[in-house]
Amino acid sequence: MRPLIGTSWKMHFTATEAAAYLDALRPLVAGLTDRDLFVLPPFPAIFVARDRLAGSNVAWGAQDVHPDDWGAHTGDVSAPMLADLGCTYLEVGHSERRRYHGETPDLIAAKVGAVLRWGMTPILCVGEAERRGPEAALATVVPDLEHCLELVPAGSIAAVVIAYEPVWAIGEHATPAAPDEIRAVHQGLHAWLDRRGPTGAEVRVIYGGSVEESIAPLVLGQPGVDGLFVGRRALDPVAFAAIARVPVPDPADGPFGTAVS
Ligand code: PEP
Repeated sequence: MRPLIGTSWKMHFTATEAAAYLDALRPLVAGLTDRDLFVLPPFPAIFVARDRLAGSNVAWGAQDVHPDDWGAHTGDVSAPMLADLGCTYLEVGHSERRRYHGETPDLIAAKVGAVLRWGMTPILCVGEAERRGPEAALATVVPDLEHCLELVPAGSIAAVVIAYEPVWAIGEHATPAAPDEIRAVHQGLHAWLDRRGPTGAEVRVIYGGSVEESIAPLVLGQPGVDGLFVGRRALDPVAFAAIARVPVPDPADGPFGTAVS
């Protein structure tokens, strides 16, 4: 599976700042052909991403979407509007959307359905609130996934990316999950995805939570980790480029993290 490495800028960067960021990033990651890269700007800067990234190896997308295609939804943005801007990836279900906007699994499921209906890739974020080990994490995350993916037919599941983002590991003052925790949860999610349908084995499960340059190779080297989702550290385009350039592990070499976990 090609690794998928990307960032959501959250509510950072004006359209002008976005242009400067992307102009700095593009040459730093040019020529990386063995992985997929993406950037999710805030809505007002998506047209800038289309302008600056067209023809590059970096895809762009959005951090949220309304489940309906059109209508009286003041302040919302729909999937067809984002498809028209050339978006490839749409993030849904981030813990901040769940916490601060009251998003429920029913709403998230409808958003996943809208993204797929318009031919884009949902990046569905899941993660447990407290650190109680991989078994407890899976006991929270799997039922949530079942709910959030309920509108996705078994045969279409490969069109979805899952972002495992333990809530306790993301944001200011947090520390990343340990490699062995990440590996155990990702392998558990892959086992569940395999059982869910014929294309479950093709679903990419990426990790997010305090990723920075020094741990990126270790995390990406864990079996079951198919990519990285970067928040704070990627606000610096040079740092994001360094993470995007991380060596892609050769499965024959075994997991980088075995000795550390
Ligand atoms: C996030 O909030 O999704 C995230 C991964 O953030 P950070 O990398 O800053 O922990």
